[in-house]
Amino acid sequence: QLDKIKSQDASYNCYISLLEEEALSQAIEVQKRLEAGEWKESPLAGVPVAVKDNICTKGVKTTCASKILHNFVPPYEATVIERLKAAGAVIIGKTNMDEFAMGSTTETSFFGVTKNPRNTAHVPGGSSGGSAAAVAADEAFYALGSDTGGSIRQPSAFCGVTGIKPTYGTVSRYGLVAYASSLDQIGPIGKDVADCAAALDIISGYDRKDSTSVKKDNYDYSKALVDDVKGMRIGIPRGYLGKGLDDEVRVSILAAAKELEKKGATVEEFDLEAIDYAIPAYYVIASAEASSNLSRYDGIKYGFRTEAFEGLQEVYKQTRSEGFGMEVKRRMMIGAFVLSSGYYDAYYNKALKVKALIKQGFDKAFEKYDIILGPTAPSTAPKLSESLSDPLKMYLDDIYTVSVNLTGLPAISVPCGNDSAGLPIGMQLIGRHFGEKDIIRAAYSFE
Ligand code: GLN
Repeated sequence: QLDKIKSQDASYNCYISLLEEEALSQAIEVQKRLEAGEWKESPLAGVPVAVKDNICTKGVKTTCASKILHNFVPPYEATVIERLKAAGAVIIGKTNMDEFAMGSTTETSFFGVTKNPRNTAHVPGGSSGGSAAAVAADEAFYALGSDTGGSIRQPSAFCGVTGIKPTYGTVSRYGLVAYASSLDQIGPIGKDVADCAAALDIISGYDRKDSTSVKKDNYDYSKALVDDVKGMRIGIPRGYLGKGLDDEVRVSILAAAKELEKKGATVEEFDLEAIDYAIPAYYVIASAEASSNLSRYDGIKYGFRTEAFEGLQEVYKQTRSEGFGMEVKRRMMIGAFVLSSGYYDAYYNKALKVKALIKQGFDKAFEKYDIILGPTAPSTAPKLSESLSDPLKMYLDDIYTVSVNLTGLPAISVPCGNDSAGLPIGMQLIGRHFGEKDIIRAAYSFE
């Protein structure tokens, strides 16, 4: 795998850091312990994994694809990394992403764009584009991404791989560099559902270092890998099939639904309430939390510091002006605005109310259905640089993924065909809170 990365990653740019020496010595160590009889129950022992570069790795650069953290080496390990290592996983590198996970194309990275391995004229999606592309290009067996508004599912769809965004609180956020803390979750990206389930088995579980971690164990997702959807009730929100959805994607999603129906599930369309307001609510809440979370980058404690300053105010101002990219600045400005006195009620508070309405809509839907099915994204992967000039369109394209984060629900994206240009299409299955096993079972039966 290392050889593969060295020979081909120049054309894709999946990785920000390659951990060649560390990975090799880790692999030798794992081999020894495997021979000594350890990790018999650990299917991923010795298997290389790629990690998104906003997840802290002790002693190894963690940049968030930003200039402001380009030289940051964390003195501690994220909980998911500790868990992976304890299961014998070998970390081979840190993957490219949109700066601070803000974006949908992996084009806002300080380290250059990542290209879609399925067609290098197109973006891999984002923000976990490097992780999804690495799996698609066979440069990692599986990878970790983070999902605040779709960043695991959408790049998985664009690159033709599988990704799971777990229920909020399932996977510890300790050591994940925060974007919007109430929405962020780490999750796996793999070639198929079984690989994702195996990875999720390892990284899930209560962690006292994350105050929003849920006290629950027995996350044995691999047990849900059964090819049987008989009696499962699946609902498709009518609004997910309407205006804005690419025709080829619609055809592919409906064909996938038919297939699940043939296998014994019941499928029906219904009206999901309040989804039209999901995008504005998401961008208000995510930006508000981002503006607060990113205030810590001041050039004093860690990361990049400007060279041109006179006095403290100047250090802050110049460091932040030089250190952050355009998209991150835009989010911080939106966030500071919607939180400012005089506008707080009109924007931030209203967004919280909309979030509650969306949750009610989903609660009602789950009284009738076990799973909500739809597209992961309205189209297949756009061409490189097409999205940068129209951020509003890029935001609107998150329509199918963001409500899952606003409600904390689990969702999976699985490949369900290609468009006429050969670009992959992803189907999204949304489950109840802690209903990962339902979506894993349905996705496994489908693939
Ligand atoms: N595209 C969304 C955004 O830019 C989602 C990003 C994410 O999930 N990290 O906010």
